[in-house]
Amino acid sequence: MDIPRIFNITESAHRIHNPFTPEKLATLGAALRLESGARVLDLGSGSGEMLCTWARDHGIIGTGIDMSKLFTEQAKLRAKELGVADKVEFIHGDAAGYVSDEKVSVAACVGATWIGGGVAGTIELLAKSLRTGGIILIGEPYWRQLPPTEDVARGCHASSISDFLMLPELLAFFSRIGYDVVEMVLADQDGWDRYEAAKWLTMRRWLEANAGDELANEVRAELTSGPERYAAYTREYLGWGVFALMPR
Ligand code: SAH
Repeated sequence: MDIPRIFNITESAHRIHNPFTPEKLATLGAALRLESGARVLDLGSGSGEMLCTWARDHGIIGTGIDMSKLFTEQAKLRAKELGVADKVEFIHGDAAGYVSDEKVSVAACVGATWIGGGVAGTIELLAKSLRTGGIILIGEPYWRQLPPTEDVARGCHASSISDFLMLPELLAFFSRIGYDVVEMVLADQDGWDRYEAAKWLTMRRWLEANAGDELANEVRAELTSGPERYAAYTREYLGWGVFALMPR
């Protein structure tokens, strides 16, 4: 079981697989006023940077589930590196339908809401693991500017304009399904650069080492067209944030 190999190639050097910088991740951890010993569940935990740094900085106890074997291995190494291997556990597997045995203070899905079939479904799934008074975290894109055409939306790797909402509408959506938005930390364009531009050097080096690979043509095409496409579309039109929610 694994995610499509292309992501394990282009994001192999990423610690954070979203447009948050380490500073934003730290800002979010502080904003949540985490208590030492609090349990955090992370569906689609990637390379584990959120749980590992929050375990180091706030003493949380974390469980992460991720379908990428590579990212999960990297998460375990990171836990050792930060000296928190006794506080965080990383499971390689499909997080769809995952409910924790013990209720958690924070239940998160940061940049992987397809796991629950969309934002609403993922919130419903996370709520099953949440203790009373706990916080749900959703990391999700929104439109900074509404794309004028469907082509522009596709330029942002969306399948259509309707994939995402504008920020006020996204906040209204959370409210409509019965949640208070109690905090939020938003990415900025520098953060998008760290996420997207970091792929380019990774791809270039991978191509040099893997010229005959079956994905070499795809990676070459992405490296050739990706930077311009990113600057024209994603960087201008797409926002991204993590929203902290409590059931009303
Ligand atoms: N939350 C992490 C990773 C976000 S990228 C971070 O912010 O760094 C999306 C992640 O979802 C990837 O790590 C990918 O491997 C994982 N993923 C995709 N489908 C999944 C599934 N069905 N179950 C668990 N993880 C999944």
